[in-house]
Amino acid sequence: MTMVTQMQLAADGKVSEEMEIVAQKENFDSKKLRREIAAGRIIIPANKVHLKKGLVPIGIGKGLSTKINANIGASRVRACIDEELEKVRICMKYGADTAMDLSTGGNLDEIRSAIIGEATIPIGTVPVYQVVEEKGTIDDLTADDFLQVIEKQARQGVDYMTIHAGILLKHLPLTKGRITGVVSRGGSIMQRWMSVHKTQNPLYSVYGQILDIFADYDVTVSLGDSLRPGCVHDATDRAQIAELKTLGELTKKTWKKGVQVMVEGPGHIPMHEIRLNVDLQKKYCHGAPFYVLGPLVTDISPGYDHISSAIGAAMAGYYGADYLCYVTPKEHLGLPDADDVREGIIAYKIAAHAADIAKGIKGARERDDELSRARYAMDWERQFALSLDPERAKEYRTKDLSAGADFCSMCGPDFCSMRLDQKTRGLETYNERRVGEKRAHKYAKAENDGSFMEVDELFSKKSEKGNGKK
Ligand code: SF4
Repeated sequence: MTMVTQMQLAADGKVSEEMEIVAQKENFDSKKLRREIAAGRIIIPANKVHLKKGLVPIGIGKGLSTKINANIGASRVRACIDEELEKVRICMKYGADTAMDLSTGGNLDEIRSAIIGEATIPIGTVPVYQVVEEKGTIDDLTADDFLQVIEKQARQGVDYMTIHAGILLKHLPLTKGRITGVVSRGGSIMQRWMSVHKTQNPLYSVYGQILDIFADYDVTVSLGDSLRPGCVHDATDRAQIAELKTLGELTKKTWKKGVQVMVEGPGHIPMHEIRLNVDLQKKYCHGAPFYVLGPLVTDISPGYDHISSAIGAAMAGYYGADYLCYVTPKEHLGLPDADDVREGIIAYKIAAHAADIAKGIKGARERDDELSRARYAMDWERQFALSLDPERAKEYRTKDLSAGADFCSMCGPDFCSMRLDQKTRGLETYNERRVGEKRAHKYAKAENDGSFMEVDELFSKKSEKGNGKK
Protein backbone atom coordinates (compact mmCIF):
# COMPACT_ATOMS: atom_id res chain seq x y z
CA MET A 1 0.00 0.00 0.00
CA THR A 2 1.40 3.39 -0.94
CA MET A 3 -0.52 6.37 0.26
CA VAL A 4 0.17 10.03 0.25
CA THR A 5 0.71 11.82 3.55
CA GLN A 6 -0.57 15.27 4.46
CA MET A 7 3.02 16.45 4.30
CA GLN A 8 3.55 15.05 0.81
CA LEU A 9 0.29 16.60 -0.37
CA ALA A 10 1.32 19.93 1.10
CA ALA A 11 4.74 19.72 -0.52
CA ASP A 12 2.98 19.09 -3.86
CA GLY A 13 1.02 22.30 -3.35
CA LYS A 14 -2.29 20.56 -2.60
CA VAL A 15 -4.70 21.65 0.12
CA SER A 16 -6.36 18.45 1.36
CA GLU A 17 -9.85 18.16 2.79
CA GLU A 18 -8.27 17.71 6.22
CA MET A 19 -6.27 20.91 5.79
CA GLU A 20 -9.46 22.76 4.87
CA ILE A 21 -11.19 21.48 8.02
CA VAL A 22 -8.27 22.51 10.23
CA ALA A 23 -7.99 25.92 8.58
CA GLN A 24 -11.67 26.57 9.10
CA LYS A 25 -11.63 25.47 12.74
CA GLU A 26 -8.57 27.57 13.52
CA ASN A 27 -9.61 30.63 11.53
CA PHE A 28 -6.36 30.16 9.60
CA ASP A 29 -5.57 30.74 5.95
CA SER A 30 -5.58 27.33 4.24
CA LYS A 31 -2.74 28.18 1.86
CA LYS A 32 -0.58 29.32 4.76
CA LEU A 33 -1.52 26.14 6.61
CA ARG A 34 -0.39 24.07 3.61
CA ARG A 35 2.94 25.88 3.54
CA GLU A 36 3.50 25.29 7.26
CA ILE A 37 2.68 21.58 6.88
CA ALA A 38 5.09 21.30 3.95
CA ALA A 39 7.76 22.97 6.10
CA GLY A 40 7.05 20.57 9.00
CA ARG A 41 6.01 23.30 11.43
CA ILE A 42 2.39 22.13 11.53
CA ILE A 43 1.13 18.54 11.57
CA ILE A 44 -2.26 16.91 11.09
CA PRO A 45 -2.03 13.54 12.84
CA ALA A 46 -4.66 11.61 10.93
CA ASN A 47 -4.21 7.94 10.04
CA LYS A 48 -6.11 7.15 6.82
CA VAL A 49 -7.78 4.21 8.57
CA HIS A 50 -9.01 6.34 11.47
CA LEU A 51 -10.23 9.02 9.07
CA LYS A 52 -12.53 6.41 7.54
CA LYS A 53 -13.81 5.58 11.04
CA GLY A 54 -14.88 9.15 11.82
CA LEU A 55 -11.75 10.96 12.96
CA VAL A 56 -12.17 14.73 12.92
CA PRO A 57 -8.74 16.13 11.97
CA ILE A 58 -6.91 18.67 14.09
CA GLY A 59 -3.75 20.64 13.48
CA ILE A 60 -0.83 21.08 15.87
CA GLY A 61 1.93 23.61 15.43
CA LYS A 62 3.02 27.14 14.73
CA GLY A 63 0.30 29.78 14.87
CA LEU A 64 -2.47 27.33 15.80
CA SER A 65 -4.20 27.14 19.16
CA THR A 66 -2.30 25.15 21.79
CA LYS A 67 -3.53 21.56 21.93
CA ILE A 68 -3.73 19.21 24.89
CA ASN A 69 -3.41 15.46 25.17
CA ALA A 70 -4.92 13.17 27.79
CA ASN A 71 -3.27 9.85 28.57
CA ILE A 72 -5.57 6.92 29.19
CA GLY A 73 -5.02 3.18 29.19
CA ALA A 74 -5.26 0.05 31.27
CA SER A 75 -2.53 -1.57 33.33
CA ARG A 76 -1.99 -5.10 34.58
CA VAL A 77 -3.43 -4.01 37.90
CA ARG A 78 -6.64 -2.66 36.30
CA ALA A 79 -7.71 -3.52 32.76
CA CYS A 80 -11.30 -2.96 31.66
CA ILE A 81 -12.40 -1.93 28.16
CA ASP A 82 -15.56 -0.22 29.41
CA GLU A 83 -13.54 1.90 31.80
CA GLU A 84 -11.18 2.94 29.00
CA LEU A 85 -14.10 3.80 26.73
CA GLU A 86 -15.57 5.89 29.52
CA LYS A 87 -12.25 7.73 29.75
CA VAL A 88 -12.27 8.38 25.98
CA ARG A 89 -15.76 9.83 26.24
CA ILE A 90 -14.63 12.07 29.10
CA CYS A 91 -11.65 13.18 27.00
CA MET A 92 -13.97 14.25 24.20
CA LYS A 93 -16.58 15.76 26.53
CA TYR A 94 -14.12 18.00 28.36
CA GLY A 95 -12.19 19.00 25.27
CA ALA A 96 -8.96 16.97 25.11
CA ASP A 97 -7.67 17.42 21.56
CA THR A 98 -6.08 13.96 21.49
CA ALA A 99 -5.76 10.91 23.71
CA MET A 100 -2.93 8.45 24.08
CA ASP A 101 -3.72 4.84 24.82
CA LEU A 102 -0.84 3.87 27.09
CA SER A 103 -2.25 0.47 28.02
CA THR A 104 0.25 -2.01 29.38
CA GLY A 105 -2.22 -4.62 30.57
CA GLY A 106 -5.33 -6.47 29.37
CA ASN A 107 -6.00 -7.36 25.73
CA LEU A 108 -4.07 -4.50 24.17
CA ASP A 109 -5.34 -4.98 20.60
CA GLU A 110 -8.93 -5.14 21.71
CA ILE A 111 -8.66 -2.09 23.97
CA ARG A 112 -6.93 -0.06 21.24
CA SER A 113 -9.40 -1.08 18.58
CA ALA A 114 -12.34 -0.12 20.83
CA ILE A 115 -10.75 3.25 21.65
CA ILE A 116 -10.08 4.08 17.98
CA GLY A 117 -13.64 3.08 17.10
CA GLU A 118 -15.04 5.37 19.81
CA ALA A 119 -12.75 8.36 19.34
CA THR A 120 -13.28 11.20 16.90
CA ILE A 121 -10.06 12.75 18.23
CA PRO A 122 -6.59 11.50 17.18
CA ILE A 123 -5.25 8.55 19.16
CA GLY A 124 -1.60 8.04 19.97
CA THR A 125 0.29 5.04 21.35
CA VAL A 126 3.71 3.95 22.52
CA PRO A 127 4.23 0.68 20.61
CA VAL A 128 7.20 -0.47 22.69
CA TYR A 129 4.76 -1.24 25.54
CA GLN A 130 2.96 -3.83 23.43
CA VAL A 131 6.24 -5.30 22.18
CA VAL A 132 7.40 -5.91 25.75
CA GLU A 133 3.97 -7.07 26.97
CA GLU A 134 3.57 -9.60 24.17
CA LYS A 135 7.11 -10.94 24.11
CA GLY A 136 7.44 -10.99 27.90
CA THR A 137 11.06 -9.91 27.66
CA ILE A 138 13.21 -6.86 27.05
CA ASP A 139 16.58 -8.52 26.68
CA ASP A 140 15.56 -10.87 23.84
CA LEU A 141 13.65 -8.41 21.69
CA THR A 142 14.61 -7.97 18.04
CA ALA A 143 14.11 -5.08 15.63
CA ASP A 144 11.52 -7.20 13.81
CA ASP A 145 9.44 -7.45 16.99
CA PHE A 146 9.19 -3.67 17.02
CA LEU A 147 8.38 -3.40 13.33
CA GLN A 148 5.59 -5.99 13.54
CA VAL A 149 3.82 -4.23 16.39
CA ILE A 150 4.25 -0.82 14.76
CA GLU A 151 2.75 -2.14 11.51
CA LYS A 152 -0.15 -3.72 13.38
CA GLN A 153 -0.96 -0.54 15.27
CA ALA A 154 -0.71 1.55 12.09
CA ARG A 155 -3.15 -0.84 10.38
CA GLN A 156 -5.56 -0.44 13.30
CA GLY A 157 -5.69 3.32 12.73
CA VAL A 158 -3.35 4.81 15.37
CA ASP A 159 -2.75 8.44 14.38
CA TYR A 160 0.63 9.00 16.03
CA MET A 161 3.16 6.84 17.83
CA THR A 162 5.91 7.67 20.26
CA ILE A 163 9.13 6.22 18.91
CA HIS A 164 12.07 6.11 21.31
CA ALA A 165 14.70 6.24 18.60
CA GLY A 166 16.70 9.16 19.97
CA ILE A 167 18.34 7.49 22.96
CA LEU A 168 21.71 6.15 21.81
CA LEU A 169 24.46 4.05 23.37
CA LYS A 170 26.71 7.10 23.68
CA HIS A 171 24.07 8.92 25.77
CA LEU A 172 23.81 6.32 28.52
CA PRO A 173 26.83 7.39 30.61
CA LEU A 174 25.55 10.96 30.62
CA THR A 175 22.79 10.13 33.12
CA LYS A 176 25.27 9.25 35.88
CA GLY A 177 24.79 12.30 38.09
CA ARG A 178 20.99 12.19 37.99
CA ILE A 179 18.78 11.69 41.02
CA THR A 180 16.06 9.79 39.12
CA GLY A 181 17.98 8.24 36.21
CA VAL A 182 15.92 7.37 33.12
CA VAL A 183 12.22 7.90 33.87
CA SER A 184 10.64 7.49 30.44
CA ARG A 185 9.13 3.97 30.34
CA GLY A 186 10.16 3.49 26.71
CA GLY A 187 13.52 5.08 27.42
CA SER A 188 14.27 2.75 30.32
CA ILE A 189 13.38 -0.24 28.11
CA MET A 190 15.71 0.88 25.32
CA GLN A 191 18.43 1.67 27.87
CA ARG A 192 18.14 -1.84 29.28
CA TRP A 193 18.28 -3.43 25.81
CA MET A 194 21.35 -1.44 24.75
CA SER A 195 23.13 -2.10 28.05
CA VAL A 196 22.61 -5.85 27.68
CA HIS A 197 23.52 -6.06 23.97
CA LYS A 198 26.12 -3.28 23.82
CA THR A 199 24.52 -2.51 20.47
CA GLN A 200 22.84 0.58 19.09
CA ASN A 201 19.15 1.26 19.80
CA PRO A 202 17.19 -0.97 17.34
CA LEU A 203 14.57 1.75 16.83
CA TYR A 204 17.36 4.06 15.66
CA SER A 205 18.86 1.34 13.44
CA VAL A 206 15.59 0.54 11.63
CA TYR A 207 14.15 4.06 11.73
CA GLY A 208 13.96 4.18 7.92
CA GLN A 209 11.75 1.06 7.88
CA ILE A 210 9.51 2.53 10.58
CA LEU A 211 9.08 5.62 8.42
CA ASP A 212 8.04 3.46 5.43
CA ILE A 213 5.19 2.02 7.53
CA PHE A 214 4.22 5.48 8.78
CA ALA A 215 4.19 6.87 5.25
CA ASP A 216 1.81 4.11 4.11
CA TYR A 217 -0.85 5.02 6.66
CA ASP A 218 0.10 8.64 7.28
CA VAL A 219 0.96 7.99 10.91
CA THR A 220 2.75 10.91 12.59
CA VAL A 221 5.97 10.26 14.49
CA SER A 222 6.15 11.56 18.03
CA LEU A 223 9.87 11.41 18.78
CA GLY A 224 10.07 10.25 22.38
CA ASP A 225 12.38 12.01 24.80
CA SER A 226 13.72 8.94 26.54
CA LEU A 227 16.17 10.99 28.55
CA ARG A 228 13.73 13.56 29.83
CA PRO A 229 14.43 14.69 33.37
CA GLY A 230 12.33 13.03 36.04
CA CYS A 231 12.93 15.76 38.62
CA VAL A 232 13.91 19.41 38.64
CA HIS A 233 17.44 18.47 39.73
CA ASP A 234 17.98 16.60 36.45
CA ALA A 235 16.46 19.24 34.18
CA THR A 236 18.33 20.50 31.12
CA ASP A 237 21.32 18.26 31.76
CA ARG A 238 23.84 16.90 29.23
CA ALA A 239 21.91 13.66 28.66
CA GLN A 240 18.68 15.50 27.84
CA ILE A 241 20.33 17.95 25.45
CA ALA A 242 22.45 15.27 23.75
CA GLU A 243 19.30 13.28 22.97
CA LEU A 244 17.50 16.43 21.84
CA LYS A 245 20.19 16.95 19.19
CA THR A 246 19.65 13.39 17.95
CA LEU A 247 15.91 14.05 17.82
CA GLY A 248 16.72 17.00 15.58
CA GLU A 249 18.64 14.71 13.19
CA LEU A 250 15.76 12.23 13.19
CA THR A 251 13.31 15.06 12.47
CA LYS A 252 15.16 15.84 9.24
CA LYS A 253 15.22 12.14 8.29
CA THR A 254 11.48 11.93 8.90
CA TRP A 255 10.73 14.92 6.71
CA LYS A 256 12.85 13.46 3.90
CA LYS A 257 10.39 10.57 3.74
CA GLY A 258 7.42 12.92 3.70
CA VAL A 259 6.31 11.77 7.15
CA GLN A 260 4.94 14.20 9.73
CA VAL A 261 6.78 14.51 13.02
CA MET A 262 6.63 16.23 16.38
CA VAL A 263 9.17 16.14 19.20
CA GLU A 264 8.44 15.28 22.81
CA GLY A 265 9.98 17.25 25.66
CA PRO A 266 10.33 17.22 29.44
CA GLY A 267 9.09 16.36 32.04
CA HIS A 268 10.22 18.24 35.13
CA ILE A 269 11.71 21.72 34.59
CA PRO A 270 12.01 24.60 37.06
CA MET A 271 10.21 27.71 35.86
CA HIS A 272 13.35 29.67 35.03
CA GLU A 273 14.50 26.98 32.56
CA ILE A 274 11.25 26.54 30.65
CA ARG A 275 11.88 29.22 28.05
CA LEU A 276 15.36 27.87 27.43
CA ASN A 277 13.95 24.38 26.87
CA VAL A 278 11.40 25.59 24.33
CA ASP A 279 14.01 27.66 22.50
CA LEU A 280 16.46 24.74 22.38
CA GLN A 281 13.83 22.36 21.01
CA LYS A 282 12.81 24.80 18.30
CA LYS A 283 16.47 25.40 17.41
CA TYR A 284 17.73 21.81 17.37
CA CYS A 285 14.54 20.33 15.87
CA HIS A 286 14.17 22.92 13.10
CA GLY A 287 10.77 24.27 14.12
CA ALA A 288 8.99 20.89 14.39
CA PRO A 289 5.97 21.02 16.73
CA PHE A 290 6.94 20.68 20.38
CA TYR A 291 4.94 18.30 22.56
CA VAL A 292 5.75 18.89 26.24
CA LEU A 293 4.90 16.44 28.99
CA GLY A 294 3.84 18.86 31.69
CA PRO A 295 6.40 20.05 32.71
CA LEU A 296 6.18 19.88 36.48
CA VAL A 297 7.84 22.91 38.03
CA THR A 298 8.31 21.33 41.46
CA ASP A 299 8.58 17.75 42.70
CA ILE A 300 6.82 18.13 46.05
CA SER A 301 3.22 18.02 44.85
CA PRO A 302 2.15 14.34 44.83
CA GLY A 303 -1.64 14.31 44.69
CA TYR A 304 -1.60 17.75 43.06
CA ASP A 305 0.81 17.20 40.17
CA HIS A 306 -1.86 18.35 37.70
CA ILE A 307 -1.47 21.80 39.25
CA SER A 308 2.32 21.95 39.42
CA SER A 309 2.55 20.67 35.85
CA ALA A 310 -0.19 22.96 34.50
CA ILE A 311 1.87 25.92 35.73
CA GLY A 312 4.79 24.64 33.66
CA ALA A 313 2.54 23.79 30.72
CA ALA A 314 1.06 27.29 30.62
CA MET A 315 4.55 28.79 30.59
CA ALA A 316 5.81 26.35 27.95
CA GLY A 317 2.75 27.07 25.82
CA TYR A 318 3.35 30.79 26.12
CA TYR A 319 6.98 30.41 25.10
CA GLY A 320 6.05 28.43 22.01
CA ALA A 321 5.25 24.79 22.87
CA ASP A 322 2.46 23.62 20.59
CA TYR A 323 1.00 20.68 22.40
CA LEU A 324 0.70 19.91 26.12
CA CYS A 325 0.45 16.42 27.53
CA TYR A 326 -1.67 16.50 30.64
CA VAL A 327 -0.80 15.19 34.07
CA THR A 328 -3.47 14.00 36.49
CA PRO A 329 -3.60 14.23 40.30
CA LYS A 330 -2.62 10.52 40.33
CA GLU A 331 0.73 11.14 38.61
CA HIS A 332 3.52 9.20 40.32
CA LEU A 333 0.91 7.56 42.57
CA GLY A 334 -1.50 5.38 40.59
CA LEU A 335 -3.56 4.73 37.46
CA PRO A 336 -5.92 7.66 36.81
CA ASP A 337 -9.64 6.93 36.87
CA ALA A 338 -12.34 8.85 35.01
CA ASP A 339 -12.46 11.64 37.64
CA ASP A 340 -8.70 12.10 37.49
CA VAL A 341 -8.89 12.32 33.69
CA ARG A 342 -11.46 15.12 34.03
CA GLU A 343 -9.30 17.01 36.55
CA GLY A 344 -6.21 16.67 34.37
CA ILE A 345 -8.00 17.79 31.20
CA ILE A 346 -9.47 20.89 32.80
CA ALA A 347 -6.12 21.86 34.34
CA TYR A 348 -4.56 21.64 30.89
CA LYS A 349 -7.42 23.37 29.08
CA ILE A 350 -6.72 26.27 31.44
CA ALA A 351 -2.97 26.12 30.73
CA ALA A 352 -3.43 25.95 26.95
CA HIS A 353 -6.03 28.70 26.86
CA ALA A 354 -3.97 30.97 29.12
CA ALA A 355 -1.04 30.44 26.75
CA ASP A 356 -3.22 31.22 23.73
CA ILE A 357 -4.39 34.52 25.23
CA ALA A 358 -0.79 35.51 25.89
CA LYS A 359 0.40 34.30 22.47
CA GLY A 360 -2.30 36.37 20.82
CA ILE A 361 -4.04 33.45 19.08
CA LYS A 362 -6.86 34.96 17.04
CA GLY A 363 -10.14 35.05 18.93
CA ALA A 364 -8.72 33.30 22.02
CA ARG A 365 -9.78 36.05 24.45
CA GLU A 366 -13.31 36.48 23.14
CA ARG A 367 -14.66 33.73 25.37
CA ASP A 368 -13.04 35.33 28.43
CA ASP A 369 -14.59 38.69 27.63
CA GLU A 370 -17.96 37.06 27.09
CA LEU A 371 -17.75 35.25 30.41
CA SER A 372 -16.68 38.45 32.17
CA ARG A 373 -19.67 40.29 30.74
CA ALA A 374 -21.95 37.49 31.92
CA ARG A 375 -20.29 37.60 35.34
CA TYR A 376 -20.86 41.33 35.70
CA ALA A 377 -24.45 40.93 34.54
CA MET A 378 -24.89 38.07 37.05
CA ASP A 379 -26.01 35.89 34.16
CA TRP A 380 -25.13 32.58 35.78
CA GLU A 381 -26.45 30.32 33.03
CA ARG A 382 -24.29 32.12 30.48
CA GLN A 383 -21.30 31.85 32.80
CA PHE A 384 -21.82 28.10 33.09
CA ALA A 385 -22.15 27.75 29.33
CA LEU A 386 -18.87 29.58 28.75
CA SER A 387 -16.98 27.72 31.48
CA LEU A 388 -14.46 24.99 30.72
CA ASP A 389 -16.38 22.73 33.10
CA PRO A 390 -20.01 23.95 33.20
CA GLU A 391 -21.13 21.11 35.48
CA ARG A 392 -18.54 21.91 38.12
CA ALA A 393 -19.35 25.65 37.96
CA LYS A 394 -23.07 24.99 38.35
CA GLU A 395 -22.50 22.49 41.14
CA TYR A 396 -20.47 24.99 43.17
CA ARG A 397 -22.80 27.87 42.42
CA THR A 398 -25.97 26.05 43.45
CA LYS A 399 -24.48 24.50 46.58
CA ASP A 400 -25.38 27.55 48.71
CA LEU A 401 -27.72 29.56 46.51
CA SER A 402 -30.06 29.06 43.60
CA ALA A 403 -28.87 30.16 40.18
CA GLY A 404 -31.32 33.11 40.24
CA ALA A 405 -29.72 35.18 43.04
CA ASP A 406 -27.60 38.07 41.81
CA PHE A 407 -24.74 37.61 44.23
CA CYS A 408 -23.02 34.51 45.49
CA SER A 409 -22.20 33.11 48.88
CA MET A 410 -18.60 34.31 48.64
CA CYS A 411 -19.39 37.92 49.69
CA GLY A 412 -23.14 37.80 50.16
CA PRO A 413 -25.53 40.53 48.98
CA ASP A 414 -24.17 43.39 51.14
CA PHE A 415 -20.55 42.91 50.20
CA CYS A 416 -20.96 41.91 46.55
CA SER A 417 -18.53 44.35 44.96
CA MET A 418 -20.01 44.01 41.50
CA ARG A 419 -23.50 44.88 42.75
CA LEU A 420 -22.07 47.86 44.62
CA ASP A 421 -20.14 48.91 41.53
CA GLN A 422 -23.28 48.74 39.42
CA LYS A 423 -25.13 50.79 41.97
CA THR A 424 -22.37 53.39 42.11
CA ARG A 425 -22.38 53.60 38.35
CA GLY A 426 -26.14 54.07 38.39
CA LEU A 427 -26.88 50.75 36.76
CA GLU A 428 -30.02 48.91 37.68
CA THR A 429 -29.03 45.54 39.07
CA TYR A 430 -30.91 42.38 38.42
CA ASN A 431 -31.56 42.21 42.14
CA GLU A 432 -33.17 45.62 42.29
CA ARG A 433 -35.40 44.79 39.39
CA ARG A 434 -36.57 41.47 40.72
CA VAL A 435 -36.34 41.23 44.47
CA GLY A 436 -34.88 44.22 46.22
CA GLU A 437 -31.84 44.28 48.45
CA LYS A 438 -33.65 43.56 51.69
CA ARG A 439 -35.49 40.59 50.32
CA ALA A 440 -32.33 39.19 48.79
CA HIS A 441 -30.68 39.46 52.19
CA LYS A 442 -33.49 37.53 53.79
CA TYR A 443 -33.36 35.11 50.96
CA ALA A 444 -29.72 34.39 51.78
CA LYS A 445 -30.66 33.86 55.41
CA ALA A 446 -33.36 31.46 54.35
CA GLU A 447 -30.66 29.56 52.49
CA ASN A 448 -28.60 29.31 55.66
CA ASP A 449 -31.59 27.92 57.50
CA GLY A 450 -31.71 25.21 54.90
CA SER A 451 -35.02 26.47 53.45
CA PHE A 452 -33.93 26.64 49.86
CA MET A 453 -36.06 28.90 47.66
CA GLU A 454 -35.83 30.16 44.12
CA VAL A 455 -35.61 33.94 43.84
CA ASP A 456 -38.87 34.04 41.90
CA GLU A 457 -40.60 31.94 44.52
CA LEU A 458 -39.33 34.18 47.28
CA PHE A 459 -40.41 37.26 45.40
CA SER A 460 -43.93 35.95 44.84
CA LYS A 461 -44.25 34.96 48.53
CA LYS A 462 -43.18 38.42 49.57
CA SER A 463 -45.61 39.96 47.12
CA GLU A 464 -48.41 37.78 48.42
CA LYS A 465 -47.61 38.91 51.94
CA GLY A 466 -47.58 42.49 50.84
CA ASN A 467 -50.87 42.06 49.06
CA GLY A 468 -52.41 40.42 52.14
CA LYS A 469 -51.56 43.45 54.26
CA LYS A 470 -53.37 45.65 51.89
S1 SF4 B 1 -20.75 38.09 45.87
FE1 SF4 B 1 -18.54 38.57 45.54
S2 SF4 B 1 -17.74 36.74 44.48
FE2 SF4 B 1 -19.98 36.64 44.35
S3 SF4 B 1 -20.54 37.63 42.45
FE3 SF4 B 1 -20.59 39.28 43.98
S4 SF4 B 1 -18.50 40.11 43.92
FE4 SF4 B 1 -18.39 38.16 42.86
